[in-house]
Amino acid sequence: MSEIRNDWTKEEIIEIYNKPLLELVYEAATVHRKYHNPREVQISTLLSIKTGGCPEDCAYCPQAARYHTDIETNDLMTVSQVKAQALRAKATGSSRVCMGAAWRNVEDGPEFEQVLDMVRTINTLDMEVCCTLGMLTENQAQRLAEAGLYAYNHNLDSSEEYYKEIISSRGFDDRLQTLKNVRKTNVTVCSGGIIGMGESIEDRAGMLIALASLSPQPESVPINALVAVEGTPLEEQEVIPIWDMIRMVATTRIVLPSTTVRLSAGRTEMSKEGQAFCFLAGAGSIFAGDKLLTTPNPDVNEDMELFNILGLTPMKPYAKGAKPTPVNPDEMTPSDVEKAKWSRPGHRIEKNVEATKKANKKRKEAL
Ligand code: SF4
Repeated sequence: MSEIRNDWTKEEIIEIYNKPLLELVYEAATVHRKYHNPREVQISTLLSIKTGGCPEDCAYCPQAARYHTDIETNDLMTVSQVKAQALRAKATGSSRVCMGAAWRNVEDGPEFEQVLDMVRTINTLDMEVCCTLGMLTENQAQRLAEAGLYAYNHNLDSSEEYYKEIISSRGFDDRLQTLKNVRKTNVTVCSGGIIGMGESIEDRAGMLIALASLSPQPESVPINALVAVEGTPLEEQEVIPIWDMIRMVATTRIVLPSTTVRLSAGRTEMSKEGQAFCFLAGAGSIFAGDKLLTTPNPDVNEDMELFNILGLTPMKPYAKGAKPTPVNPDEMTPSDVEKAKWSRPGHRIEKNVEATKKANKKRKEAL
């Protein structure tokens, strides 16, 4: 029976991943039943509080300003807009709101103060609050914790080796540093990745090693299937076979037994039966709502129908951890004036450079 280990080897993980599928799912389902209630699935709503115009060059992302995609860009939402959306999410069964902003890193100032207000507001609604805002200093993590943040998401995306093939504007170590900064607070850690970007099984295993070697392991690991968006460098990537997704969910379940595995982007391409297999293999959470930041997601009624068929129920908020008590804003840790030094490797990634050139040409033609 699987136990929590931080010393997995690549060979061990690949061996698990490549097991005969039904044996793999059976083993993962057994681990899932030991550590989790298999009847409950946590529902999160992902809210894009600031969309597009991001300076980074993540090859999978339609929000990167340098690529030519059709997304609607938006400045930072107001606190009341966020509250209204959170209430709507709560009414349809979500226990968590995850707010995403297309930033490289958090900058101290009025926008960050506004996000802290959003965190305080959602906390009063008795919903778990999560943020995904880019790289974060220790001071910023502390201030988010004091505002009542429950979780911080910062994905490793892929293995350290393959990370260099998809992003040049920041390093893998920066990602790990942000996770370390979050870990110094009582905010829980959410970190996972994407499959279907052209990576190998070794890369998938490498990402799981990086996540499993964190001590303690992340409380939450989202597994995304790439949604190839026209205009991004990965626009021609084929949809990942459902069997790969099931294998990845099951392997994650076994390697990180007490973690909540999130079946995240790419569900619109998955059949109901495929998703059911993922729940059996240990997925314990989904994102609800018709959009996941900028890409399509199944309708919430369809999800509820599937839950009814499978006998699953939505998990209540704070089922796996206490509700954070926000600190009085006047007593919060002051903002740190020292700026963090995040890296910018800037190596050439051919497909990213080509997509940028194509976008610039389209912009010129449109003028
Ligand atoms: S994934 Fe995040 S950091 Fe990367 S381009 Fe998109 S919004 Fe920016």
